[in-house]
Amino acid sequence: MPVLRVALDLPLHRLFDYVVASASAQDVGLRVRVPFGRGEKLGVIVEVASDSDWPLEQLKPAGEILRDLPPLPEDFFRLCRFASAYYQAALGEVILQALPGGLKRLDPPDRRNARAGKLPPPIEPPQLTDEQARAVDAVDPAAGFTASLLHGVTGSGKTEVYLRLIDKALALGKQVLLLVPEINLTPQLEGRVRARFPEAGVVSLHSELAEAARERNWRAAFSGQANIVLGTRLAIFTPMPRLGLIVVDEEHDPSFKQQDGMRYSARDVAVFRAHQLGIPVLLGSATPSLESWANAQGKRYRLLSLHERANPEATLPTVKILDTRRIALKEGVSEPLIAAIQARLERGEQSLVFLNRRGYAPVLACPACGWVSRCKRCAANLVLHLADRRLRCHHCGFEHGIPKACLTCGNQDIHPFGRGTQRLESWLQEQFPEARILRVDRDAVKSRKQWEAVLERIHGGEADILVGTQMLAKGHDFPKLTLVGILGADSALFAADCRAPERLFAQLMQVAGRAGRAELKGEVLIQTQYPDHPLFAAVVAHDYAGFAAGQLKEREQAGFPPYAFQAMLRAEAPQMADAIAFLKAAAALPEVAGHANVLIYDPVPMRMARLANLERGQLLAESPSRPALQAFLPQWREAIAGLKAPSKLRWHIEVDPLEF
Ligand code: ADP
Ligand code: ZN
Ligand code: ZN
Repeated sequence: MPVLRVALDLPLHRLFDYVVASASAQDVGLRVRVPFGRGEKLGVIVEVASDSDWPLEQLKPAGEILRDLPPLPEDFFRLCRFASAYYQAALGEVILQALPGGLKRLDPPDRRNARAGKLPPPIEPPQLTDEQARAVDAVDPAAGFTASLLHGVTGSGKTEVYLRLIDKALALGKQVLLLVPEINLTPQLEGRVRARFPEAGVVSLHSELAEAARERNWRAAFSGQANIVLGTRLAIFTPMPRLGLIVVDEEHDPSFKQQDGMRYSARDVAVFRAHQLGIPVLLGSATPSLESWANAQGKRYRLLSLHERANPEATLPTVKILDTRRIALKEGVSEPLIAAIQARLERGEQSLVFLNRRGYAPVLACPACGWVSRCKRCAANLVLHLADRRLRCHHCGFEHGIPKACLTCGNQDIHPFGRGTQRLESWLQEQFPEARILRVDRDAVKSRKQWEAVLERIHGGEADILVGTQMLAKGHDFPKLTLVGILGADSALFAADCRAPERLFAQLMQVAGRAGRAELKGEVLIQTQYPDHPLFAAVVAHDYAGFAAGQLKEREQAGFPPYAFQAMLRAEAPQMADAIAFLKAAAALPEVAGHANVLIYDPVPMRMARLANLERGQLLAESPSRPALQAFLPQWREAIAGLKAPSKLRWHIEVDPLEF
């Protein structure tokens, strides 16, 4: 009797065997209903075997094999096996997380019909600049695996390079996967792709799609009906029969990293997938991740550079540093910035004031007794939101009304401390009563619809001053925007996280890149108390390469990635002591002693030590060799699984962690 080896969505590093009356190798990759515990589950057939490690008479019979979809292909399983091994994730979880919700249910709804869209005429592409043309020539979807890093300053026309490469791949009859960090923030990109390739079948895949739409799009990609898939990180696992090119836009963006469930980097999986399939992958950014930059410097990736803005009229903005130790501030805003905004108002141009902190003020405090609004469930402050009169935790969502007096001493004179976008907005409105001010942050813009409406208002010239967080930093073209003022950047300068400078630099370059995208010259004013900091000098000079070289040198000296390879074991429990004790036990396992090339640090509380009533600790494992770390991790993971732990303790391993 044939045996089905089935992957189930469970955090267990094994497959489950079932007997079946008849099955053949062609059934590998089909979904199957199987009995599990007292119920039933839907799994994926990974293997059809004639034998099992278990006595056959002990195996339960499998239920119905579903044939509404063709079997998942071999290369899909190879990719999932890689991700499972590399990220220490159970194969069943990897496989099942790659399927859209409807296909994981025992009774899948019938959605076989793809919708036909309307087809507008294609848009004429512009004449490429020389640098763009060189980049396009360098990538050949017919020539096997290559990994290229497209480093192009903001506005240099990276998207046009992607579009030309997509065109090349389509001409060869291939499918293309274009990964973007957050689709909601880039509706323009989706529009551009659809407009350029109206007949290719463009589908998007991201978590905010309704389940039916996501399944429809996934099916279109899987059947080969859709030639272009535009997706966020989860799209990287979509099976595509003729995949011939992968592009990762804004490859430095941390949102390519999945931070819960199966923890993986979609960018890194993209490179692996391209390698497995023997196809090119292109990573694009104005501020590449240091990992990718180091790969380009080490010639593992080919470096393609765009130094100039594509629009011949547009130039990079002038960046000036305002030394706030010498310049008086009013509500956190300096006189020169106010004057610059005033000048834009008079000329009918737009200004953007960037402050990456939403809410009215980061904390409400009592000057009499020192009370501050803390979250009861997290090691974090409750942020004051005056717009809807709430105190709100940005980590766990806990909120309550604003107290009239100090909760400790009864003092009625409690104050907001610090500044968020709401406070900045209302102060700017007082300064410029005539100006139309538009605040753009996650409180003001919650849905894609709202975001599109906001973009329309900006483009239609219905806003004079934009007050915004990093939401506004990503790839938008606002032709009338000529001034960017940056507030509050200093707090990230001296953060403990070794990646904080890299992130700040990327953010500043991105937001600065919004200015002067068209004929009008742009100006960027950065307020800081540390005008001599090398990070600002690099922003002023638009010198990514210089900045990256300095950072990589520091990382090398400190033995940080990309010069070391890391995995983080995290444990969370109601009591920190339990989490730390568990991590100590994991560090003391005999498997650790057997791997001389792997260094285990001491367990420590996480920086955000308490989140939603759970206390969290972590333990770093590090090695100068990736293979050494990879050899160690599965053995360690298995040994950890055998440790005794309090029932409420949860743990996981994250490979290549981004946050500490
Ligand atoms: P990036 O993604 O590198 O920031 P974009 O791809 O958004 O830049 O391009 C910036 C602007 O330049 C867009 O308005 C785009 O239409 C325009 N553009 C791109 N390539 C060319 C070109 N070869 N000639 C003229 N304009 C171009
Ligand atoms: Zn008080
Ligand atoms: Zn909280």
